Amino acid sequence: MVDCWWNVRSASEPPDDVPFAHRRQLALRRRASVDTSSTVPMTPPPPEPDPPSAPTAGIRLKTDIVVIGAGQAGLSAAYHLKRLGLPPNRGFIVLDHSPAPGGAWQFRWPSLTLSTVNRIHDLPGMRLADAVDTHATEVQAAVAVPQYFAAYEKAFELPVYRPVHVNVVCSRGDRLIVESDRFDVSARGIINATGTWEAPYIPQYPGANRFVGRQLHTKDYRTAEEFVGQHVVIVGGGISAIQLLDEISRVTSTTWVTRRPPEFRDGPFDEEAGRAAVKLVEERVRRGLPPRSVVSVTGIPITPAIEAMRARGALKRLPMFSDIVEDGVRWPDGTVVHADVILWCTGFRSALDHLAPLQLREPDGGIIMTGRLATQVAKDPRVHLVGYGPSASTIGANRAGSAAAGELTGFLALR
Ligand code: FAD
Repeated sequence: MVDCWWNVRSASEPPDDVPFAHRRQLALRRRASVDTSSTVPMTPPPPEPDPPSAPTAGIRLKTDIVVIGAGQAGLSAAYHLKRLGLPPNRGFIVLDHSPAPGGAWQFRWPSLTLSTVNRIHDLPGMRLADAVDTHATEVQAAVAVPQYFAAYEKAFELPVYRPVHVNVVCSRGDRLIVESDRFDVSARGIINATGTWEAPYIPQYPGANRFVGRQLHTKDYRTAEEFVGQHVVIVGGGISAIQLLDEISRVTSTTWVTRRPPEFRDGPFDEEAGRAAVKLVEERVRRGLPPRSVVSVTGIPITPAIEAMRARGALKRLPMFSDIVEDGVRWPDGTVVHADVILWCTGFRSALDHLAPLQLREPDGGIIMTGRLATQVAKDPRVHLVGYGPSASTIGANRAGSAAAGELTGFLALR
């Protein structure tokens, strides 16, 4: 729902449709933890006072900056806001939709381990190795990173509230109203760090609705074993597609299709190549073009795992099919390949729907970014996007968090 309906009502009044018991609960909570004066910033309720489903709508808090999302980008931003002297809660808060620390890493498939990820860069101020045993390379990323982020939030006493889902952000005069499923927050600026995991992308192909097998996205993948005995069509030419193809092709038959021939690159992905790739993506977002993934401009580094796949013939690729039939996929020449499963490794988009009321997009759909590292939205400088476009990597997210915190506090004259 794209609506800031509550704006017409006093923030201190519970909504009319809240049952009396809850109204009393709200009143008690307000008295206990929320300063309702119009000028004094408020302290949010404790993170888990009630089950997550308990209604708290109608309470409006006040702070200077809301960071939305507590993945790598959001935590980096929060760290820098605190370092710049903003007091937790009164100066900034972090709202995170996930049930636990770890950003999207907590949802990644079990076989993604510290040895199979590209590289997870340390957050500012604390090393991954300080929180987890990084020599145990077989440890799941979905275990190690959440452990690291939890230790990080605690060590720096970051005011992270979860699970809190931000539904919409609206502009009201010189303030931004952040409406969530738990409470609403009035702020002077936001740093949006909602990542891409919540916005999986599946391209539309004719016939998808009549397919009787199973279709799933990278996001839904857990283990190759569930596909044993089935023929799996894997769609996509990125790193995730190749990793999942590697795993699945070891236990069952596969067909791999990509829109373009994948571009493999020889040699390690050094810092210079990384910088060049980031620059290309940055130029795109500065022009308001949709960001492309960094890998899409760098190519896929050839690892020993990819060499082994080549050697066993698992990297044979077909061009994209033209439509989907009941039990398979079909190419323009009429060739049909049977499929029990279509696995769409077709990437993600930035999860920005909650910002729709701010009308940040240009008529052609893009968002023009500005600022030192292109984190600031040109149309509304109170809004920064981190982990977006050129900063959609752990190292990019670190830098973007720092740039956004510095620029936004400067713009709002908070330091
Ligand atoms: P996320 O980690 O996705 O965090 C976003 C947070 O925002 C989440 O906690 C989410 O719950 C919250 N959120 C979303 N919407 C809302 C909302 N409306 N309200 C409140 N909260 C919300 N990068 C690397 O550098 N190295 C790698 O090895 C690597 N491997 C990857 C593997 C996979 C399979 C994928 C998909 C990506 C990988 N990446 C890797 C890219 C990686 O996603 C980023 O590097 C980084 O972890 C993203 O951090 P983030 O903070 O931007 O987003």
